[in-house]
Amino acid sequence: GPVLGLESSCDETAAAVLSPDGRVLGETLLSQTAEHARFGGVVPEVAARSHLRHMPALAAEALRQAGLRANDLGAVAATSGPGLIGGLIVGASFGKGLALANDLPFVAVNHLEAHALTPRLPGLLPEAPAFPYLLLLLSGGHCQCVAVEGLGRYRRLGTTLDDAVGEAFDKSAKLLGLPWPGGPHLERLAREGDPKRIPLPRPLLGREGCDFSFSGLKTAVSQAVGRLTDEAGKADIAASFQASVAAVMADRARHALRMMGTEIVGGKMSARATAEAAAAKGATRGATALVVSGGVAANSAIREALATVAAQHGLPLIAPPIRLCTDNAVMVAWAGIERLRAGLADSVEHAPRPRWPLSEMTGVEVAGIG
Ligand code: ATP
Ligand code: MG
Ligand code: FE
Repeated sequence: GPVLGLESSCDETAAAVLSPDGRVLGETLLSQTAEHARFGGVVPEVAARSHLRHMPALAAEALRQAGLRANDLGAVAATSGPGLIGGLIVGASFGKGLALANDLPFVAVNHLEAHALTPRLPGLLPEAPAFPYLLLLLSGGHCQCVAVEGLGRYRRLGTTLDDAVGEAFDKSAKLLGLPWPGGPHLERLAREGDPKRIPLPRPLLGREGCDFSFSGLKTAVSQAVGRLTDEAGKADIAASFQASVAAVMADRARHALRMMGTEIVGGKMSARATAEAAAAKGATRGATALVVSGGVAANSAIREALATVAAQHGLPLIAPPIRLCTDNAVMVAWAGIERLRAGLADSVEHAPRPRWPLSEMTGVEVAGIG
């Protein structure tokens, strides 16, 4: 039967009902951005209370859209980590309650796995990317390069040593006097600026591996703001900041692809021509696609930089629509479906995990689910 997905790991409360073949039958989402804006960031206690207040009605509305009652469902899947523990407990407990009351299997979904499997959602692309593909997860809380090798098989190739990239956008935007969350505002301001006038560092560019570091860049932004003599200079700083992040992102993606054994098919050919050349060479080794997800995937400078890298390797750049890049319950339900198909489900005793690296994915095999 259909699967109800629940998301409550950060500042979005969301529910979605998907048919077993991945069609979206009902979908609700409430972003808490406005509630947190006056604090300049997500306040965990405020987030947890808001999830508690809104989750039941959002789940009921998703079921209503699907024309279903809870006992028509085949399973319940809830994000159970990583994230803010208060919100995770709210969503997971609500999901377990529904599962217990209706005698349904429960899936404890890893939020990162849900992001990682989103490009496989049926109907999203003409053809789902084959394993392995490279995922760049770029959000307010995460900044990782992940080799997605199969269901439940993820290799984290690199991560941030300090701030997540969305956090770096938000902190730099704040220094420039922009409202929270600052990413979109900074991108808009950058359009009016000269990226070359105020050079900023490009942390770890060219360095081995594909880790990230943004705290030095943020400090440089702070110093540049301090030296400003004209208001117009703010746009130049924004443009320079964004150019730095995009250059670093492209460099890290290149390294990650190399770590996966992906060949450069380059030259000055079009993306299509390079893809065809790669196929002709039988160069199917390495990644089959470059996937970018997370709220920062909305940034067009970063998308452009990554599109260039993908083309150099003859790969498609896959960026799901923004509503599926940011936190949502469709991806949670879909991850639940993928796990159920593999015969995996979880006990209602599964404890939500604030930290839950993809490398620690586990599943309990439950007979008779599929
Ligand atoms: P999580 O990290 O748990 O997935 P989150 O709420 O922190 O959750 P998202 O909702 O995926 O992350 O993304 C929000 C982040 O994306 C914010 O930091 C925001 O500033 C950033 N962002 C959104 N649009 C843009 C943009 N156009 N350019 C740069 N950053 C952006
Ligand atoms: Mg969010
Ligand atoms: Fe997320």
